Amino acid sequence: MIPFLDMKAAYAELKPELDAAYHRVMESGWFVLGREVEAFEAQYAAFCGTQHCVGLGNGLEALELVLRAWDIGAGDEVIVPSNTYIATWLAVTAVGAKVVPVEPTPAGPNIDPDRIAAAITSRTKAIMPVHLYGEPADMDAIMALAGQRGIKVIEDVAQAQGARVRGRRTGALGHAGAHSFFPTKNIGAFGDGGAVTTDDATLADRLRVLRNYGSRVKYVNVERGYNSRLDELQAAFLQVKLRVLDDWNERRRRIAARYDDRLSGIPGLGLPRAPQWAEPVWHLYVVQTGRRAELMKALEKAGIGSLIHYPIPPHLQQAYADFALPKGAFPLAEKLADTVLSLPMGPHVPESAVDEIAAAVRDALS
Ligand SMILES: *Cc1c(COP(=O)(O)O)cnc(C)c1O
Repeated sequence: MIPFLDMKAAYAELKPELDAAYHRVMESGWFVLGREVEAFEAQYAAFCGTQHCVGLGNGLEALELVLRAWDIGAGDEVIVPSNTYIATWLAVTAVGAKVVPVEPTPAGPNIDPDRIAAAITSRTKAIMPVHLYGEPADMDAIMALAGQRGIKVIEDVAQAQGARVRGRRTGALGHAGAHSFFPTKNIGAFGDGGAVTTDDATLADRLRVLRNYGSRVKYVNVERGYNSRLDELQAAFLQVKLRVLDDWNERRRRIAARYDDRLSGIPGLGLPRAPQWAEPVWHLYVVQTGRRAELMKALEKAGIGSLIHYPIPPHLQQAYADFALPKGAFPLAEKLADTVLSLPMGPHVPESAVDEIAAAVRDALS
């Protein structure tokens, strides 16, 4: 049996360090907004190459609070990918702004800068590119478009911690980067967690107020804030995970390269192709096939886990039924939803498993 993702392996490998972190926090008697969060914020900002990092409750709130901090709301438009996890859209609609979905590049999976230009209006306040599957979006083109017009750019880095564009980390490429530390992400906590990275001191300060009830000084509330805080235990665990992030991303790269090799030349199977300028971190290894149901069934029979990221694009979700965006409104996103399949990927997938999975795929499609 090869599971899609082995969630116990991270603890097994880092048990002494994680247990030490646990005991340090438990014995400190301090659990929310303290030394561990401050230490992680400093380390993670240094890792990403930004001036500031603000630890938050989760990735969705990281996206939402940045929009809130920029005073984006009703009457404003935010450009989002048509092809993304629904969280990207939820952050925009949560602040009352209008989502303006833009299709991916023909090669996929990320938002197409050429189509962004056509979607910009006088109401466009922000662009929210997502580095889907760990592959960076075309940030150079997006920042050029935004810069000419004074539009803010917030990266959704939930799937791409450690990835680079021409040597610079995701999360440091836009005006702000929103990160998720959900357990399955490339740097995962053991519970929920999130953060924003930025060079903008004003934004970082506003986020620190917003995450803590709109308060800078205890019981003095300068605005209507939230409760969205990374906790001390998760921050202590994340310091351990951060020390291995580059190494674990390198392992993912090796797995991806092995998949590329073992899966090449299978008729009707599309393999992921990152652009030359991108250094992806392979959050997922996603293939495309018109015979997906058949392939999934064959893999399941062989005891191999696979998942679809994502089977229904946001515009076709019941959650957005009131937008009345019909089937066919975003054909590229819909095509991806119908054909993508994620194969087992992670820092603990053995090379022998890749060979076994590739052989099963070849069998099923040949
Ligand atoms: C996981 C994820 C999020 C949300 O992160 P949470 O911490 O689960 O709230 C946002 N965007 C994308 C692309 C994600 O994959």
